[in-house]
Amino acid sequence: MAGRLDGTVALVTGASSGIGEATAAALARAGATVALVARRRTKLEALAQRIQEAGGRALVIDTDITVEESAQEAVRRTVDELGRLDTLVNAAGVMLLGRIETADVESWKRMLDINVNGLMLMSHAALPHLLAAAEKEPRRVADLVNISSVAGRVARMGSGVYNASKWAVNAFSEALRQEVTRRHVRVSLIEPGAVATELAGHNTDPEVLQRMKERFASIEVLHAEDIAEIIAFTVSRPRRVAINEVLVRPTEQAD
Ligand code: NDP
Repeated sequence: MAGRLDGTVALVTGASSGIGEATAAALARAGATVALVARRRTKLEALAQRIQEAGGRALVIDTDITVEESAQEAVRRTVDELGRLDTLVNAAGVMLLGRIETADVESWKRMLDINVNGLMLMSHAALPHLLAAAEKEPRRVADLVNISSVAGRVARMGSGVYNASKWAVNAFSEALRQEVTRRHVRVSLIEPGAVATELAGHNTDPEVLQRMKERFASIEVLHAEDIAEIIAFTVSRPRRVAINEVLVRPTEQAD
């Protein structure tokens, strides 16, 4: 059972759907005020309304995290309007699969821009505020959670650049963890297996769609809420406890 996050402020990227949306809702239920970041404003507004109806508080920031000024502005607005920043959850991401040999390299650039550059820009913009919260706010600890994947641990044919993006997230997270953990900013890496979200829906390559169907059609995949609960648990541990890494698969997912 997670502890309470009353009085804290969390910024969640990718909050318009899937894991980010469920995480923002879970953190709000635990008492955090949440800044909701993604590009689709109507989806963010609908989530903000649900959070407010349940007695919580949310700020909608529709922006593209791959643009440096936009990432900085999202953090600045959060701190200006909500007063501080205790938790950053980097959940925005895409998974555009396909063989390297026949790839459309534009899709690589887009995926690396969101999964890697956007995550690093958000982390960089948030870090001074997370360090300040860990130093001055009553909890004396802050959290930065990056969503990687089983694909950050296991490479597969047809997933090379998605694998590369998640390997990059793992390396960045571990280096950053070492930099800031003594100052009580906890960097946590969450590595889910298959979760039912919009993620796979951006793929159009028939070979990719067939491969995904073969891998996952017959198994019970995770719900976004399963991951959200783990994140809420992770960021609400006592100050002395840092959950560095969580690898979580559907029980029926063997590899
Ligand atoms: P979804 O497609 O449901 O959500 C992705 C989110 O990212 C959306 O809210 C989208 O919002 C946002 N996003 C995409 N591009 C940008 C951008 N440029 N700026 C701001 N926001 C952006 O996928 P999931 O919830 O499944 O994915 C969340 C994370 O979890 C990803 O990093 C993914 O790799 C990882 N993951 C997912 C797994 C799964 O099986 N679903 C398994 C392992 C890891 P919008 O379009 O409104 O901008």
